[in-house]
Amino acid sequence: SAKTSGKHTYRFFDKSMQDAVVEKTLMEARLRQTIDNNELRLYYQPQYNMKSGQIDGFEALLRWKSPDYGMVSPLKFIALAEETGLIIGMGNWVLREACTFNQELYAHGQGRLCTAVNISVVQLMQADFVQVVAAVLSEIGLPPEQLELEITESVLMERFEDNVRKLGELRSMGVRIALDDFGSGYSSLTYLKKLPITALKIDKAFIDDIAEGDNNIAITGSIIELAHEMGLVVVAEGVETEEQFAYLKQKGCDSIQGYLISQPLPPEEFIAKLQG
Ligand code: C2E
Ligand code: MG
Ligand code: MG
Ligand code: MG
Repeated sequence: SAKTSGKHTYRFFDKSMQDAVVEKTLMEARLRQTIDNNELRLYYQPQYNMKSGQIDGFEALLRWKSPDYGMVSPLKFIALAEETGLIIGMGNWVLREACTFNQELYAHGQGRLCTAVNISVVQLMQADFVQVVAAVLSEIGLPPEQLELEITESVLMERFEDNVRKLGELRSMGVRIALDDFGSGYSSLTYLKKLPITALKIDKAFIDDIAEGDNNIAITGSIIELAHEMGLVVVAEGVETEEQFAYLKQKGCDSIQGYLISQPLPPEEFIAKLQG
């Protein structure tokens, strides 16, 4: 009967839901110890300046080196870290680590590079977020112009006025603000005018569409043009082919990031990459 099969389904579902809850609880417990156990790592992906032909910055990308799970992608744990509030501590760790790395590079004669750091909505919504960033910069002695905070559109939509005010305060300190994954969300170019941002990162999905004969190719060109009219720096994400590179260069894209230049690298490999 329906009742029997319903019960059967229920039990089956119940079991897998239980597993998922146990797994999540376990992961949360492990996540809680990442900082104390020294399990967080930053990888650095070079940003290649199209005009100078030099690496002029890098994005810090978080990895979790877990004894249980191996090297874990942020896509697997950021959401849980946000849900549990653990992202606050982790985000602070990332900010400090990435700024320290930049300052060390400079101390070793690398010239002024810009560090891009991904910021979660949960961090931005903290009342003291601006003060935390200011404190890290002044402790480390990194000029604010060498820090770029990457924010996504969905982040901004929540408590819009409040978030825009905070970003404005960071801007007036000299910190750069980039809108990440542009084109993947609500994006309208008019809405961009309301934001105190300095750069636009075009989502990889648009870059993927750059192929000979693709109808979407015009979109990327228009985004670059309009962003420039608004005085924004344009960065292309996920550039993998020479064809994409040539198109972006021709359209005047300012910087690119992607496997064509380099994958995200552990610190020593990033330094080696900078040196030649
Ligand atoms: P994102 O900020 O948009 O970062 C770009 C992602 O694209 C990175 O994935 C990078 O490794 C990948 N990527 C770069 N170039 C290429 C390419 O040419 N081809 C392909 N297929 N992929 C490329 P990753 O490192 O797995 O990070 C995923 C996302 O996790 C990031 O997307 C960001 O939203 C988030 N994330 C990473 N680190 C942090 C962090 O410290 N804090 C927060 N809140 N989020 C982070
Ligand atoms: Mg990013
Ligand atoms: Mg992105
Ligand atoms: Mg992303």
